[in-house]
Amino acid sequence: MSIVDRIEEIKKEIPESTNLIAVSKYHPTEDILTAYESGHRIFGESKAQELITKYEVLPKDIEWHFIGHLQRNKVKYIAPFIHSIHSIDSYKLLETVNREAKKNNRIIRCLLQIHIADEETKYGFTFQDCRDMLSQNHWKDLQNIKIVGLMGMATNTDIQADIKAEFTSIKQFHDELKQNYFADNVDFKELSIGMSDDYPIAVTEGSTYIRVGSKIFGERIY
Ligand SMILES: *Cc1c(COP(=O)(O)O)cnc(C)c1O
Repeated sequence: MSIVDRIEEIKKEIPESTNLIAVSKYHPTEDILTAYESGHRIFGESKAQELITKYEVLPKDIEWHFIGHLQRNKVKYIAPFIHSIHSIDSYKLLETVNREAKKNNRIIRCLLQIHIADEETKYGFTFQDCRDMLSQNHWKDLQNIKIVGLMGMATNTDIQADIKAEFTSIKQFHDELKQNYFADNVDFKELSIGMSDDYPIAVTEGSTYIRVGSKIFGERIY
């Protein structure tokens, strides 16, 4: 099946309220263009340098989502054009994004990455660290970012019930934050959960973004 067919197939499986981010990391710009020419516009990358290189040569109406661990010294390179950053994992990073967005006279949409997996290696806030950060209220002074929701990655496991429990936990946490910190904030509504192997489960938990790479573009060669 072609890249275009696979995108079409996934879009048919997911509700209107879920957006498909085609995760193009490690895949060439030609593959992105193939998807672009079929009408797809939302792409995700996880490394700043790779994203910048692709941004420069690809059509400018692509909506780029940053989904990987972001070093603060790289923010300035993507701030001029990035649509959303899904991987905010510290208040300091949020501040940096705000500063660079301001320099570019932009408002950048940010998702807080929450650690839900039963694995050491994944970045993100714990529930409590996230509550503590939001309780501090300093984020409310940041005029050039918008906190639009949460991102999470489930444990890499075949046990569907475990994946589902992790997605349910971030969904419930999203509801809690909405009530306690974003009750009158219409922007806080995104839930970025679900990848190639687990997006059907994520969709049942109310995912508004799924981030799908290998199921569209094939295996990544590192
Ligand atoms: C690479 C990546 C994806 C896509 O993974 P696939 O399993 O290839 O769909 C999704 N989210 C994040 C944060 C990633 O780094």
